[in-house]
Amino acid sequence: MAAVTADRSSVGAIPQLGHAVILLGPPGAGKGTQAQRIAARYHLPHLSTGDMFRDHIRRETELGKRAKPLMERGELVPDDLVLSMVEERIAQPDCRNGFVFDGFPRTLAQAGDLERICQKQKFGCTFVLHMVVEPTLLMRRLTGRRICKAGGHIYNIYDRPPKREGICDQDGSELIHRPDDTEGVISERLHAYEVQTRPLVEYYTVRKLLSPVDAMAQADDVTASIARILDGAQIPR
Ligand code: ADP
Repeated sequence: MAAVTADRSSVGAIPQLGHAVILLGPPGAGKGTQAQRIAARYHLPHLSTGDMFRDHIRRETELGKRAKPLMERGELVPDDLVLSMVEERIAQPDCRNGFVFDGFPRTLAQAGDLERICQKQKFGCTFVLHMVVEPTLLMRRLTGRRICKAGGHIYNIYDRPPKREGICDQDGSELIHRPDDTEGVISERLHAYEVQTRPLVEYYTVRKLLSPVDAMAQADDVTASIARILDGAQIPR
């Protein structure tokens, strides 16, 4: 179902660069886990706007100071702040062949801006993978989520526990519980998704860029479904 936009394929004379892969879905849909895997498979950088903000918060930058209280409440960071951070990141040389977005775009304004940036920077194809999940599963996935401090590897104490409690199987570092993965904040994040992000499903459907993915399956099966879509679209590995 993933497709090349008609307006972009018609600019044949302009050399096109790589692919923008977007993971769209509510918090807890598994975007982070799948984005890491897709990025590794296609040798593309994994761009998580949530991770970028958490890094700014750790480094106590101006951006981090503005984002922190909003993130703690489960609200979105204003579009203009997200946009300048993303634009700067995708202008880096490692993004020339494309990138995998996890958590961006999250509003219609961000999607419109991304489209303009991609046209300006000559990114040829956009693939939007819509991670479809039953809302009842999300709370369990998010309250059970634990993340490795060093490498960002993701576990779930209910469904995908580490071999040793609190320790990452892959690099032995400590697993942490994100401060916004508590019930009250999760409800806010799910609400923000419904109101501000869900309209993107329609936005990308109209543009024939959306591929639905059954994100309730086991993580490996979800990865296999995504790989079938992207391999079929002939993204080079
Ligand atoms: P999740 O998808 O599990 O909610 P993320 O790590 O993607 O987690 O995002 C955490 C928080 O970072 C969001 O609740 C929001 O405050 C902020 N954030 C991340 N990406 C964006 C974005 N594109 N626009 C606005 N805020 C964002």
